[in-house]
Amino acid sequence: MDDLIDFDRAHVWHPYAPMDSPATPLLVASAAGNRLTLADGREPIDAMSSWWAAIHGYRHPRLDAALHRQADSMSHVMFGGLTHEPAIELARRLLDLAPAGLDKVFFADSGSVSVEVALKMALQLQRGNGHPGRTQLLTLRGGYHGDTFGAMSVCDPVGGMHQMFTDVLAEQVFLPRPPAGFDADLEPWVAEAQAVVDALDDTVAAVIVEPVLQGAGGMRVYPPAVLRWLRDQCDAHGWLLILDEIATGFARTGEMFGADHAGISPDIMCVGKALTGGYLTLAAVLCTADVAAGIDASESGALMHGPTYMANPLACAVAAASLDVLTESDWRRDIARINTALATGLAPARELGGVADVRTLGAVGVIQLDHPIEVAAASAVALEHGVWIRPFRDLIYTMPPYISTDEDLATITGALVAAARRPR
Ligand SMILES: *Cc1c(COP(=O)(O)O)cnc(C)c1O
Repeated sequence: MDDLIDFDRAHVWHPYAPMDSPATPLLVASAAGNRLTLADGREPIDAMSSWWAAIHGYRHPRLDAALHRQADSMSHVMFGGLTHEPAIELARRLLDLAPAGLDKVFFADSGSVSVEVALKMALQLQRGNGHPGRTQLLTLRGGYHGDTFGAMSVCDPVGGMHQMFTDVLAEQVFLPRPPAGFDADLEPWVAEAQAVVDALDDTVAAVIVEPVLQGAGGMRVYPPAVLRWLRDQCDAHGWLLILDEIATGFARTGEMFGADHAGISPDIMCVGKALTGGYLTLAAVLCTADVAAGIDASESGALMHGPTYMANPLACAVAAASLDVLTESDWRRDIARINTALATGLAPARELGGVADVRTLGAVGVIQLDHPIEVAAASAVALEHGVWIRPFRDLIYTMPPYISTDEDLATITGALVAAARRPR
């Protein structure tokens, strides 16, 4: 075990971590249900669902079976000129679930790549429609859309990676941070946003936002009415509305998609993360028939994208099984139950010194501090309480697997409150 960790520390990068990091990663031996089994025998609950993904927990019998069955017939074939049942069946399920009007599916290999594809779709469509000057994107401050260069250009310009990459990132247009809270008053924000929109030349191709919940940009909840306002602006100006549902998709916020809170449909939608139930990397970009037709009418005559592992059959088969498990469950009731448990369990954090806000939406619970958190120390406190968390910036948060019982949720919220209580 020490050999493995020593090699990891010497040679293996981890996300957003220095190569020569003072923190030692925990060695995971296996995982089942909502628990990780660490090499030292501890079995914490994974309150992160492996970053929004493992919604049904690990080693789910139906997902395991789908993966094994697919491996026995074909693990991968190229998607250029060939097709297969796992991709077709997954596309059928996605279009069934998605907001009305979405009709075409592009399979990508990660969330960030799906965002790149969505941006490319928007730019190609505007060219196809005779607007080659529409090359900019309009987005909200406080967003997060991934780590590739196009995606980085629409991440929050302050909290994201803009400062470091100012010279290489495309220059986009930012609307103010949306009002905080699901039921917040919209008026002051609309006035500011309208001023930005009114000052624009005809350079915008599309609006891209995470609906209702901004995730890695700050775990902020905002009113669905913002989405309706953006939809109206898009219709009025000939912009496309791209919804990045990579974190919010598949019931996490209490509706199947974030868009459903607002009763709107995007022109383009990205899904990823929970798509495969946390088993394999896969994302998808959905778009309307109009968008697809416009892209075909652009000078290249086709959408110019095609990843090597496009529509990987193993990932598609397990994703189809994951969507079946989800749609056959009473997910609305499950998410409401989790929301109640998170809201109740996190409430005591409101009384703690150093806590700025406590909020929940669907199966997401957040304690925001008024100071930056010490990630390693806070994680260690949670681990002593039997829970794996990964705080960032000033945020201690959870998005547990949907299979978590009320008892698990009490353990999770207890651990989060304990981590927030830790003296600075
Ligand atoms: C995680 C995330 C991405 C990036 O997905 P990756 O699979 O990590 O590339 C993009 N947008 C949102 C909203 C996300 O939460």
